[in-house]
Order: sequence, then C-alpha cells, then structure tokens
Amino acid sequence: MKFPKVPEVLEEAEARGVGVVAMKTLAGARAMDMDPKGGVFEHAAFKWVLEHPEVAGLVVTMKRVRDIDLYLQASGQTMTSADRRILDRYAALHGSDYCRTGCSDCETACPAGVPIASTLRYQMYFEQYGEEKRAMQSYAGLPQDATACLGCGIESCVGACPNGLPVSLKLRAAHDALSFAGYA
Ligand code: SF4
Ligand code: SF4
Repeated sequence: MKFPKVPEVLEEAEARGVGVVAMKTLAGARAMDMDPKGGVFEHAAFKWVLEHPEVAGLVVTMKRVRDIDLYLQASGQTMTSADRRILDRYAALHGSDYCRTGCSDCETACPAGVPIASTLRYQMYFEQYGEEKRAMQSYAGLPQDATACLGCGIESCVGACPNGLPVSLKLRAAHDALSFAGYA
C-alpha cells in the first residue's frame, strides 16, 4: 500500500539529515480485526513503519484510552513473519479500494477537474475515522466538489487509477456521504 517512491524519499531525507515522522500509518484504518486469534494489524503496521531506520517516529490518532493500551504494545517490538502476513492480507483485502493519501495520479483524467484525491480522503475521514462533521466541513470547503460525477457521461477516471480503484463509483458515494445530497 506504499507509494513506489517512498523509499527514495526516505533515503534522500536521511542523507540530508531531515527527520521523518510517518503519518497515515494504518493505511486507511479499515476493519482491522482480521485475525482475532492471531497478530494485531495495528502492531504489524507500526512495526513495519518503525523498522525503517530513516523514520524517527510515527503519529496516529488515539481517541480512547484503550487505543493507547493497544498501540503501546507495539513499542520497541520487531517485525515478525506473522506481522508480514497480516499486512499482506490487509493489502489484498483493501488495496484496490484504498485511495493513497497524497496521490493524485488519476486527476488529470477528469476533464471536469474534480478533486478526486481530496474527496476520497474526506470520505475516509467520514467512513473509517468516524469524523463525519470534520469530513463534511472539509468537503464543503473544497473549491470544487464531486457534483460533476453524478451526471458524468464519460467517466474517463475509470481505469486511471494504477491501484484499480472504481473511481467514479467511489466519488458518487463520497459525494452522497459528504454533502447533504445523500440525506435529501
Ligand atoms: S466520474 Fe466524470 S466527473 Fe467524476 S471524476 Fe470521473 S471523469 Fe471526472
Ligand atoms: S483513486 Fe487511485 S490514482 Fe486516484 S488519487 Fe486515489 S490512489 Fe491515486
């Protein structure tokens, strides 16, 4: 679920003495209780991030005391083969539906100029983070929203995502969730 050039960026940062703090370390924070009897996805994700010597630390939202209890268990731990299997499974489950934060590779395919990456990021805030108000406010603050997707006859964004996301479908669902259109 990582960007192809992230390793190069990290190496460059290290060479220049720039500290790196990783964000979005849970890759969308989707249903993470994939393996209740096995390892913990959050631990695997944190260990993967921190095993990179170029990364100084990570940040993650903690909403409840139990998040702190859970997350701290990964501190100082090393990655195992079981952790790698968990991450591979998560990527297989969600890799073709998770819009990579910071990517915008498909946006040039849209003649209407829909801010695809921002829209899908706010949808993630709404659906996965449970931050509905913040998501809707952020979406309302965009210079342009995804209204154009509702009646789009060309859907040239379809096939433009190298990760195989069903872009037009996701944008229409995002617009419904993030605007009051879906509640009329
Ligand atoms: S559905 Fe149409 S308007 Fe919406 S992003 Fe795709 S090409 Fe652009
Ligand atoms: S839909 Fe795909 S190409 Fe477009 S911003 Fe998201 S991950 Fe990148």
